[in-house]
Amino acid sequence: MTDADARIAALFEAKSPRGLARAISRAESGQGAALMHRFFGRTGRAATIGLTGPPGVGKSTLCSGLIGVARAQGKTVGIVSVDPSSPFSHGAILGDRIRLGEHFTDPDVFIRSMASRGHLGGLAGATGDAVAFMDAFGLDVVIVETVGVGQSEIEIAELADTTLVALQPGSGDSVQLLKAGILEIADVFVVNKADHPMALQLQREIRGMMEMLDFSGWVPELVATQARENVGLDRLWETIGRHEAYLRESGELARKRRSAFAHRVRALVLGRLEARIAARVAAVAQQSSGDPYAAADEIAAPLESVLPEMERTALPEPAFVTASVKGLR
Ligand code: GDP
Repeated sequence: MTDADARIAALFEAKSPRGLARAISRAESGQGAALMHRFFGRTGRAATIGLTGPPGVGKSTLCSGLIGVARAQGKTVGIVSVDPSSPFSHGAILGDRIRLGEHFTDPDVFIRSMASRGHLGGLAGATGDAVAFMDAFGLDVVIVETVGVGQSEIEIAELADTTLVALQPGSGDSVQLLKAGILEIADVFVVNKADHPMALQLQREIRGMMEMLDFSGWVPELVATQARENVGLDRLWETIGRHEAYLRESGELARKRRSAFAHRVRALVLGRLEARIAARVAAVAQQSSGDPYAAADEIAAPLESVLPEMERTALPEPAFVTASVKGLR
């Protein structure tokens, strides 16, 4: 461990939020391994919640409401706010400061914005590390908030115990759900802006789509909220609690966390390999006069020869996918 890491570890041990902040910064810059070796053994206590949905649906307002409910119960809270669009997080920090304003000065609430681009392993990389450090630090609840754009909501479901998908009425969100395959990963649907005239319609659409699915265990619940008015947040919190209890009692929690662990390991291994072979791929692609398979063979065959005992197997179904379309399986 370097001197810098040792100083961060000492701050972390002393329960200084600066220690936590710096540990996450080390992870963001790809240098978090030594601190993770030190603190990973303390993880596993926090309830982790993923919150995803389109821009403007009210994720930050919901987050603020959930922090309020958790704090009223005396729980400490960590928020990881992921901005998938930007390689810089400073704008996001400013935005969060405004939206989560009242909680920014609460010493038992730790808020961190981060960009998901530009890190090896995307969300699973630095965001996974941030969640782990917050958990090891002793925060009771960790919420990962991310804008739902394609891959990121799938990633969030890999990381979190409970995945909340927030939708807003009158936006065609339910159609997007089907397209993006989000239906299969939601543990709880949050219909925010329940004051909107189309709110009941959206709830009907979600229920209609759920009828097309077979669920292997937990059947997603639907909670209507008006986050701005703080309506429905207690019910949402209770629903999250019910899902956590289900995970624990059914043994799913252990399976889900093992799967999340495997996902992170895979992202780290592939990230390292990718960094090693990037230059070679570029060089072979430049010189190659053959087809892409032959070029790939030239690069991959020597690597495969050092892993001879490994069989080719299909990737296992990730634990966070809890539903399948009826008749398709
Ligand atoms: P985010 O982009 O998903 O984080 O959404 P924000 O939390 O920033 O909210 C977007 C806008 O929706 C803000 O102007 C909020 O005040 C507003 N908003 C949040 N919740 C509600 C609600 O329940 N009803 C209505 N009408 N507006 C809401």
